[in-house]
Amino acid sequence: MFRYLGQWIRNRTVGPVLPLELIFFVTGRCTFRCKHCFLQEFTTDANTDISLDAVDRLAFDLPNLMVLMLTGGEPFLRQDLPEIVSIFSEKSRPRVISIATNGFLTDRIVASVTEILEQPRFQAQLLVTLSFEGIDENHDAGRGTRGAFAKALITAKELKTISANKPNLAVGANITLIRENAQTVMATARELAATNLFSFLTHNLYRERKPKTVFEQVDLEVYRDLGCFVRSYSRAFSMGASRVLGLWHYFKESYQGELISRIVRARSYQGLPCAAGRDIGVVYHDGDVAPCELLPPWGNLKEHSFAEIWGSQSSRSNSRKLRHDKCFCTHECFLSCTLNTQLTPLVKCLMWNIFRRGPAK
Ligand code: SF4
Ligand code: SF4
Repeated sequence: MFRYLGQWIRNRTVGPVLPLELIFFVTGRCTFRCKHCFLQEFTTDANTDISLDAVDRLAFDLPNLMVLMLTGGEPFLRQDLPEIVSIFSEKSRPRVISIATNGFLTDRIVASVTEILEQPRFQAQLLVTLSFEGIDENHDAGRGTRGAFAKALITAKELKTISANKPNLAVGANITLIRENAQTVMATARELAATNLFSFLTHNLYRERKPKTVFEQVDLEVYRDLGCFVRSYSRAFSMGASRVLGLWHYFKESYQGELISRIVRARSYQGLPCAAGRDIGVVYHDGDVAPCELLPPWGNLKEHSFAEIWGSQSSRSNSRKLRHDKCFCTHECFLSCTLNTQLTPLVKCLMWNIFRRGPAK
């Protein structure tokens, strides 16, 4: 805990500034081509994926990483995913490692997760989150693949069996609210909950790819109902880790849901100076380093190390400019990091939860 606190203080004082949370796109390949996918360019060429040597240098540059989010594409398409986790476990020692997956490659996923959990250096909480937009053929239609839903449930079942003996593995389901599933998304959430396969549920709102824009066609009532449902389902899980952290997580998620509703309604900045470019960042499968998923990269790992890119004068001034320019969006990962690491939003979140519990200000 102290090393994270030390990094947090350095990020605000003498530096070197380094993120506490990292979203790492380990591959640009995927088994599907979903209509709502956030990834802008797919590849089928495994050679374009960042090399293990580059991963090693990246992890070396992030000694105080608290949360590592592995995503893609489909991360389990990388046969060497366990080695990537092993490198980060040794060099960065994150407290939480999450892997987002569509759940289609059951055997590969089960083998990789088993290998990760058996690594002697692996100490983190591993969260494997399967993504859903619907049930049965509704889900399959969005994924463009028949049987995608059934395969994902089989994967969840197998992972749940593993987690029975491995308390540091938790299996969750993430539901994305898109235009096409507004009428069915609550039924999807209820059905996924009823399978009893998931320790936690999360939800995402489909997002536009530019800062200062929001997904306008959302029904905010549905978004709010979905948020209440997933928070209430996941409450026991977050409380299990530690009562204080669990309560904070619940507070934060509740406030974040209200803020997203407000950002969508007002389409404007809501007083949260974004943590992107300072406490959280993104690395893409081709080595690009960016402050967030909506802004252009600041450099590439083929030319400079992560520390050089993140610590450069231009990156530091860009990062300050983001906060000064009151950048806003509804990206949950960045809002979450902002509430976890910035003092004013953190205090606002606590106040809202304790005194108000109405629409967020
Ligand atoms: S499974 Fe995920 S990464 Fe793959 S195309 Fe669909 S949304 Fe994109
Ligand atoms: S608010 Fe943050 S995450 Fe969103 S676009 Fe701006 S810098 Fe990126």
